[in-house]
Amino acid sequence: MRALAKLAPEEGLTLVDRPVPEPGPGEVLVRVEAASICGTDLHIWKWDAWARGRIRPPLVTGHEFSGVVEAVGPGVKRPQVGDHVSLESHVVCHACPACRTGNYHVCLNTQILGVDRDGGFAEYVVVPAENAWVNPKDLPFEVAAILEPFGNAVHTVYAGSGVSGKSVLITGAGPIGLMAAMVARASGAGPILVSDPNPYRLAFAKPYADRLINPLEEDLLEVVREVTGSGVEVLLEFSGNESAIHQGLMALIPGGEARILGIPSDPIRFDLAGELVMRGITAFGIAGRRLWQTWMQGTALVYSGRVDLSPLITHRLPLSRYQEAFQLLASGQAVKVILDLKA
Ligand code: NAD
Ligand code: ZN
Repeated sequence: MRALAKLAPEEGLTLVDRPVPEPGPGEVLVRVEAASICGTDLHIWKWDAWARGRIRPPLVTGHEFSGVVEAVGPGVKRPQVGDHVSLESHVVCHACPACRTGNYHVCLNTQILGVDRDGGFAEYVVVPAENAWVNPKDLPFEVAAILEPFGNAVHTVYAGSGVSGKSVLITGAGPIGLMAAMVARASGAGPILVSDPNPYRLAFAKPYADRLINPLEEDLLEVVREVTGSGVEVLLEFSGNESAIHQGLMALIPGGEARILGIPSDPIRFDLAGELVMRGITAFGIAGRRLWQTWMQGTALVYSGRVDLSPLITHRLPLSRYQEAFQLLASGQAVKVILDLKA
């Protein structure tokens, strides 16, 4: 089978030929139909400081993908051969204190597909049976491939006190921030303000936002106050950008909630007392997806049509054109780039 792998501790990825893996007890073999490139894959490609500290080549990359169950290992009752599935990328241990208290999404022994073990930029992949989420057969594979990052958005929007009836600021209109705008709109939030310095991406938020903000052209805090009076009730942070995080916190009304999914590339400094403590802000760190609550909430939105993710799929390329696909995403002139594993 063809697979896109990191073969050595250096920049780049290589299309390789590998034997099709076999599912062991409790595992399933998935024939991958569509995969999507994530910012994490760009880090692995570039071999930056994070990748050097985390990735142990050789490794088949890719953690956002969908496909069909081709074979099941001993003891597997669900999913069944022929089921159409999306993949939860976190393989969890079920034994650590986090897992045993229901917090599987922060399992101490998490192994991420395409990061810590072979992933889905390949024609076939073996995963634990529980990681294969069964979809209706009429859900397009390319939409099923992006349910994993969609789960990040759903988890952030529904954490804490949710967003229904609340004013919301979304910082970062990358794929996950845009998905969060869709979920916030479908869940009765308002007004919804979305900020991003990239005009190409910001424009995608238009149908779901009451106000778009380019922080390079306008003063974010001034716009927030102009639209809301005194500030927003909820900050949903998806940029990982230091100044967006400071401005986002200060855009909250006292007593507001900050839910932070974005990951700064370096540690950042902030004024704990002035930005958080004395303003009574509740801050949530959001990691991954709650298993399996987030999958149930997110798929309810997508299967019912209340959220349509298809406008975010801006490019589709065959696996053989992976270099172009990675460059497109890196340029910022794309939202979701799908690799077609059949082509
Ligand atoms: P992305 O990098 O594609 O999007 C980030 C967006 O933020 C970009 O469009 C960028 O233009 C924008 N941005 C930059 N500076 C900004 C500013 N000052 N104000 C507003 N926007 C600004 O990322 P993504 O794939 O959408 O993921 C969002 C973030 O979440 C990333 O930081 C990613 O590393 C992180 N992430 C976290 C988890 C988790 O489990 N916590 C999972 C996946 C991704
Ligand atoms: Zn665990």
